[in-house]
Amino acid sequence: MKIKKVVTSLLLGITIILASTSVSEAYVLHGWKLPSKSSTYKWGTNLDDGSSVIKSGWSAADSAWYTASSINFTVNTSSVNTLNSWYEYSSTYYGRMTTTHSDGKVTKFAGDLNSGNTNITKSNVAKSTGVHEFGHAIGIAHTGGTSIMNSSRDRTTMHTPQTDDKNGVNAIY
Ligand SMILES: [Zn+2]
Repeated sequence: MKIKKVVTSLLLGITIILASTSVSEAYVLHGWKLPSKSSTYKWGTNLDDGSSVIKSGWSAADSAWYTASSINFTVNTSSVNTLNSWYEYSSTYYGRMTTTHSDGKVTKFAGDLNSGNTNITKSNVAKSTGVHEFGHAIGIAHTGGTSIMNSSRDRTTMHTPQTDDKNGVNAIY
């Protein structure tokens, strides 16, 4: 009887592990994509005063997507896409991305990181937020589990696209 109980709880444990594994591989797609894996952006005017934390966060995020999925963002002053910052005192509002699309193709994106977020200067937080916001423009949406698109992730330790995110991008491009 005792052994049966142990086996039953072991099986239950394995089932729970399997279930949580499948949840962590659940990317969600927006239904839009960049016209190609090469895209451009220009810097917004709020960064003219040398907001280095924000700007280097966006740049590190840009590089992270190239490393993870060969998505090649380059700075071009005549780009229709803009990366910028805004100020709103908060400990929970980190960033935002507005994506305009037509027939499933992104025609314009505008991303902002919140310079008024009290955590934004912590190590890797701006980068993590940038990678997440780029993810929206690329075409992946909020999800749970081990994903840069998980809004509850620890931004100081998760700051690059995860396997689930890369799988989502591979499914689109
Ligand atoms: Zn988001």
